[in-house]
Amino acid sequence: MIIAVDGPAGSGKSTISKLLAKELGLVYLDTGAMYRLFTLKMLKENVSFSDNDKINELLEKLNINIENDKFYLDDEDVSKEIRKTDVAENVSKTAAIDEVREKMVSLQREFSKSKNVILDGRDIGTVVFPEADIKIFLVADPRERAERRFKELKAKGENISLDSIYENILKRDKLDSTRENSPLKKANDAIEVDTTGKNIEEVKNIILNLYNNKG
Ligand code: C5P
Repeated sequence: MIIAVDGPAGSGKSTISKLLAKELGLVYLDTGAMYRLFTLKMLKENVSFSDNDKINELLEKLNINIENDKFYLDDEDVSKEIRKTDVAENVSKTAAIDEVREKMVSLQREFSKSKNVILDGRDIGTVVFPEADIKIFLVADPRERAERRFKELKAKGENISLDSIYENILKRDKLDSTRENSPLKKANDAIEVDTTGKNIEEVKNIILNLYNNKG
């Protein structure tokens, strides 16, 4: 069983995917975190986005690990760092690099082998698992998405303004949906759910209904 959850930043993908994973006994994979981990590696190593040789070298030696809610880079827990502004501001550039996508997609497929998995991202239903059993495309008003992210980061003690989060979300949406390789877009057979004004419970029930109707 593969459930693909795609959509723009802050549309509720990870919150919903985690809940559904728990309720349905699925393994959850946050594919955005994988792009964030590689972005953090590039920033730490001071690698330029045009330095293909160095990028390939980093990809070959890449050591990332995801265990439940913890994200590791070179065996160090960087769960907090990957949510910070410098990563958020660079991740869409990293994610547009062909070699980076190729590597991440292959890791995502490998991870999902012989498991029941729910994955969230931008290209899960279109590229990573075009044959997914259920495809959901979550959308929401950008202001509301920014407010959700703002609350999340504030709760984690991050000091960042709502406006800068809003700008970052708009910028990432634009870069993610206009890139050539695997742009953010709804798969033809995905079901779009607009989460604006809906609480988590409502969205969860909509998706659970789809799941139950699938048999
Ligand atoms: O989901 P999250 O906001 O953490 O994703 C961070 C970034 O990673 C996205 O803005 C996008 O550039 C990239 N991404 C992607 N493909 C995915 C998941 C995330 O390009 N499947």
